[in-house]
Amino acid sequence: MAGYTPMMEQYLSVKATAPDALLFFRLGDFYEMFFEDAITASRELEITLTGRGAGGDERVPMCGVPHHSAEGYIARLIDKGYKVAVCEQMEDPAATKGMVRREIVRIVTPGTVMDAKMLGEASNNFILGAALHGGRFGVSACDLTTGELYVTSFIASEEAIGNVLNVYKPAEAIGDEAAIAAIHNESNKTGRTIVTTVRVEVDSSRLTSQFPDERWSEHDASRQAAVAKLLAYLEETQKRSLAHVRAVKAYDSESYMSLDAFTRRNLELTETVRDRSRKGSLLSLLDRTRTAMGARLLKRWIDQPLLDRNEADRRLDAVEALHGDWIKRSELRDELGDVYDLERLAGRIAYGTANARDLLSLRNSLRRIPSVQAICASFGETPLAALAGRMDACEDIADAIERAIADEPPVSLREGGIIRPGFDAKLDELREASQNGKQWIAELERQEREATGIKSLKIGFNKVFGYYLEVTRSNLTSLPEGRYERKQTLANAERFVTPELKEKEALILEAEDRMFDLEYERFIELRDGIAAQMDRLQRLAAGVSELDVLQSFAEASADRRYSRPKWTEGDGYDLTIEEGRHPVVESVNENGVFIANETSLTAEDGSILLITGPNMAGKSTYMRQVAVICLMAQIGCFVPAKKAVLPFVDRIFTRIGAADDLVGGQSTFMVEMKDIQVMTEQATKRSLIIIDELGRGTSTDEGMAIAQAVIEYVHNHIGCKALVSTHFHELAHLEQSLTGLKNGCMAVKESADGVTFLRKLVPGAADSSYGIYCAQLAGLPDAIVSRAYSLLSEPAHVGGKPAIAGDMRQEAAAALASALPAAPGVAIAATPVSSQGEPQTAQPAAGIVQMS
Ligand code: ADP
Repeated sequence: MAGYTPMMEQYLSVKATAPDALLFFRLGDFYEMFFEDAITASRELEITLTGRGAGGDERVPMCGVPHHSAEGYIARLIDKGYKVAVCEQMEDPAATKGMVRREIVRIVTPGTVMDAKMLGEASNNFILGAALHGGRFGVSACDLTTGELYVTSFIASEEAIGNVLNVYKPAEAIGDEAAIAAIHNESNKTGRTIVTTVRVEVDSSRLTSQFPDERWSEHDASRQAAVAKLLAYLEETQKRSLAHVRAVKAYDSESYMSLDAFTRRNLELTETVRDRSRKGSLLSLLDRTRTAMGARLLKRWIDQPLLDRNEADRRLDAVEALHGDWIKRSELRDELGDVYDLERLAGRIAYGTANARDLLSLRNSLRRIPSVQAICASFGETPLAALAGRMDACEDIADAIERAIADEPPVSLREGGIIRPGFDAKLDELREASQNGKQWIAELERQEREATGIKSLKIGFNKVFGYYLEVTRSNLTSLPEGRYERKQTLANAERFVTPELKEKEALILEAEDRMFDLEYERFIELRDGIAAQMDRLQRLAAGVSELDVLQSFAEASADRRYSRPKWTEGDGYDLTIEEGRHPVVESVNENGVFIANETSLTAEDGSILLITGPNMAGKSTYMRQVAVICLMAQIGCFVPAKKAVLPFVDRIFTRIGAADDLVGGQSTFMVEMKDIQVMTEQATKRSLIIIDELGRGTSTDEGMAIAQAVIEYVHNHIGCKALVSTHFHELAHLEQSLTGLKNGCMAVKESADGVTFLRKLVPGAADSSYGIYCAQLAGLPDAIVSRAYSLLSEPAHVGGKPAIAGDMRQEAAAALASALPAAPGVAIAATPVSSQGEPQTAQPAAGIVQMS
């Protein structure tokens, strides 16, 4: 690199310290980028690429952005997955001879964005640290805006790594080579990009200095490595204190239910299948939180259903108390509504970016805590009282803020007006001096008007000329000679100063300067003092968030007529739901009625329900509803049912639909088989299995054979609760050979006007003639229809279809007849609309219970 200019040499040496980031190099009022960085940035930001002589023979590529609008450009680059290193001038160029010293002051990366504008307030922005050690995968997850740091570890498996990525949805990950490779492998499957950095070395001394009180389990080197790598990276990029990252929240991944990405998506827990939006998900349905931190915790709770029954009961007890008293609940909601995002506020205080208004928000929030506690205590002996009892209202902090901070401070910290009069004697003295000076000036204005007889004479102030006397042009002749020194000429006025005005000005400005400095100093003292209390604030924030989620559950449950689930007594795994509903489908079905359904997976009724029935009959909704009800119970929420007695399940496996199985380049069938493999390997008696359209991705014969084999395996070897739907109505014969399996189908009513889906589950298998009937309805020529019927009755076809349909039909019809009063004529007939809102063409369907 011979012959570069000194500036370019400096650029290159700085760049060498941040090779994987785009370097924003401050030159005067611009941030400039050079070489490859310039080419990339100009392309991504659509800004002009120019060149610059750099001492060598060739001009080097260059592009730049004005420093005052840099944040927007940085945000766009981060959004596209780049890292940006911001290099500032560390000296005043005017006061420096030779080269100005320049240094990188921070590296902005997707996982370490602090800018509130770039982040949604209702979701966390996690960065992961990961390490693979002795077969165990250690993961740490930090949200820099709140200071939360979680850590866990587990035996490394694709599935467990996928689960952790689904919970945290990190934008970025740091880890050793093997851990990063595993993360890439899993994130590719979901189509999300994670910016990664490989870090080999581990400096564990950092762990002791950051968390002196943490007891690390000796067995868990992977956890320590995961935290240490993350800390080192955060320090390198942030270049400032990580004081608010105070506590490691370690947990065993076995304490939460593991859910694979497809199950999360298919059950639409936090985003919809269709457009991955929060709106329309279970999360948005249950979100009645009043604080942003509560909204973030709610998402976490939904992402991590409990495997600890006591904890679920504790939540449910609290929800029940809140559910039962809407007056207190609404009082509580009002109080919480006035609590600001304590977590992020605390983060900004520790980070040194909080201003006086932030401290006022903190004070106002803290002032609400005593009444929040009182409301909780008034519920009597409930977990709410315990929760409130653990809250520390931090009144001393609120008082300190109240004493120090003025009522309406400005945003800026450098222009005074922050500290309340009476707080600091020295400050009051300076303030008085400046106020006296100002009075003196008002007096001077009066005197000068009198002396000159110019009524419009006034004294003003601007930053360039300081104090001046202003006289309009027409009055200039009335000014006496000599005493006035001309300073500035305007269109129709002249501005003057006098020696005494200058003298007073010096006094006033000096007092103001000192006042501003002192105010700033006092403010920083206060802020640092609060930062030292960070763990108290963070604990309070955690308590308030939890309370907010609990009241959110209660509010949503009351509003949507949910009821408290009970757990199956003793060792039984029976699952019964009376009048169960699908929370999300029900909520979007605003005009129509949602038909509630019963579920009974018990020792008597069988633990496997095999559901047949035509498309659009409501099979998938029914099965998902059972899974969602179990899951809601295990996050501590009430459930959409009149009554539910549920087993505490260890895991929910779902294999539903094929919305986007093709992500990752695997065929639908292959994906299905892999899911089933995981299921057979991991499901226990305590699991719940949902399989929709089992065996549909391959030929009929093979599909049916596999479906039967899978069902038999679940029945004979796993013995857990399972809901299986299939379009192979032939499989209904399994009811005869498998004692724990029962057939069910979705009732359909046909009449002269068409077919009505009753959306009611009834016992028995669907009749197979519906497909051809449907073809007939669709207006196919008679020749085709009758040929189809005759083909169907040929022995070859009858062979695959055991003669069950007839009796089943009667049984089903009888059951339906009794169910009908509860099922008002729901009508979706000739052109039903799918849950995606697209018209569904009538398809030859598997079967029908004929009611006519
Ligand atoms: P299938 O799986 O049998 O093809 P779906 O479960 O997808 O049928 O249901 C099709 C549509 O029927 C859903 O989008 C929903 O709008 C409606 N639906 C399903 N179940 C019910 C119900 N119990 N009450 C009212 N509408 C329902």
